[in-house]
Amino acid sequence: MANLLEGKTALILGVANRWSLAWAIAQAFHREGARLALTYQGDRQREVVRELGRELGALVLSCDVTQDSELERLAADLRAAGGGLDAIVHSIAFAQREDLSRPFLETSRSGYLVAQEVSASSLVAVARALVPLMSGGGSLTTLTYLGSIRVVPNYNVMGVAKAALEASVRYLANELGPQGVRVNAISAGPVKTASARGIKDFSKMLEGVAERAPLRRNTEPGEVADTAVFLASELGRGVTGNILFVDAGFQLLGM
Ligand code: NAD
Repeated sequence: MANLLEGKTALILGVANRWSLAWAIAQAFHREGARLALTYQGDRQREVVRELGRELGALVLSCDVTQDSELERLAADLRAAGGGLDAIVHSIAFAQREDLSRPFLETSRSGYLVAQEVSASSLVAVARALVPLMSGGGSLTTLTYLGSIRVVPNYNVMGVAKAALEASVRYLANELGPQGVRVNAISAGPVKTASARGIKDFSKMLEGVAERAPLRRNTEPGEVADTAVFLASELGRGVTGNILFVDAGFQLLGM
């Protein structure tokens, strides 16, 4: 089969390091022939992500998604670098560490709001700033987790943010569909990344999934990445407003 993303340009937001799901997605997009731009957040990540970007011949830009001015600058930089986009991957989330360990009832207003702003509202801001670059239609994909619809110990405020993110996917899919832009989320099983390590007892989650998931193992980053390829490619042309589980089947269990 020909490369699935040949001739397409993709922007991937949320590479922090080699363990990031966004990095697995970037590698899969590169393998399939996409031209890539990657973003990172803040000076601390700059050198690592520039180095990763060099491996894939990607343009590397900085963007804090809570700042509209940075999103506008990102759109301007992409336009200056040649213009259009066919795919965007939003692989970004944040919650205060204490909100991923103490009882949900103790979530502070500020902790609740920061999780919503970075993890959910940013998808709308990204779409507003960058979908105008998708003049020929395209695909916007975000990353979510089962904690949006089920109670998962310690996921707490992030589960509430993911619920808002998934609802945002549906509203955006409906509004952007007429211009040929599809919006979907991949609901990934737990994968050990920097963000995941912030969740109390994360290794117990991994053990529980491996024991009970129908496939009796955890999710591989490459499986999430290949699903992102499918969604961004012509193969996904009929799919929008969906939450696709890539989780070794764990979501179907009732007990
Ligand atoms: P990660 O820590 O590698 O990625 C999170 C990214 O969010 C980082 O690159 C970080 O810089 C970025 N980010 C945070 N605040 C930002 C801001 N203000 N502006 C721009 N970027 C910002 O961890 P990951 O696990 O690869 O997470 C990627 C996505 O996948 C997240 O949405 C996460 O919730 C989701 N997800 C992860 C898992 C898992 O188990 N790892 C499972 C399901 C879904």
